[in-house]
Amino acid sequence: MANMEYLNQYEKENIRQIRLKINRKTEPELLEWIEKQGNIQGYIKQLIREDMEKQPKKVELRGTEYWCPRCRNHVEMMHAGEFNNFCGFCGQKLTF
Ligand SMILES: [Zn+2]
Repeated sequence: MANMEYLNQYEKENIRQIRLKINRKTEPELLEWIEKQGNIQGYIKQLIREDMEKQPKKVELRGTEYWCPRCRNHVEMMHAGEFNNFCGFCGQKLTF
């Protein structure tokens, strides 16, 4: 029983459970799709990570030069004071 108490305490301190409701009548395509995924939790986490990857990341300033925070390549300046808003090497969206 001590082990169960430990697990309950661990979950209480470390796990945030999120419920997802899908309406069978109004969103049957979502339900059908999600049920085809083997691991629903893994699938949703993967979608979230992919969305996070798409968000612009702030370039790193080292000295007077800018570097991509994802692939660590040098970010080229287009014109004075203007930059590409994505990395030419890895495609990461960037903010300055
Ligand atoms: Zn890059």
